[in-house]
Amino acid sequence: MKYCPECGSEYFDEISNCTGCNVDLVSSSDWERIVKERQSEDDEVFVNIKTLENQFEADVIKDILEKNGIPVLVKSFRDTSFDGIFESQKGWGVIMVPDEFRKRANAVIKNIK
Ligand SMILES: [Zn+2]
Repeated sequence: MKYCPECGSEYFDEISNCTGCNVDLVSSSDWERIVKERQSEDDEVFVNIKTLENQFEADVIKDILEKNGIPVLVKSFRDTSFDGIFESQKGWGVIMVPDEFRKRANAVIKNIK
């Protein structure tokens, strides 16, 4: 089998390009590698380390973490892209850092209080 690297459709070996995406197909081993690579990229997503009470708290913590060299992402529950997902959540939003910074970020936050 061959696979389209764009849409992931399966094709018979005789076919060499995806009609939908107009790209060359890859072998199944190449496709597996591509899938794995995409998964490992996803692993680097930010993790939620703290629920925030308000915008003020968000700004304070973000500022301190950034001064400590930690990449920070603040997500407000009011953000429309979170529509529905956090409806039952309490608080204003969450603060997120890359997984590898989690310990350091938690230590920094502890010292704030
Ligand atoms: Zn395709």
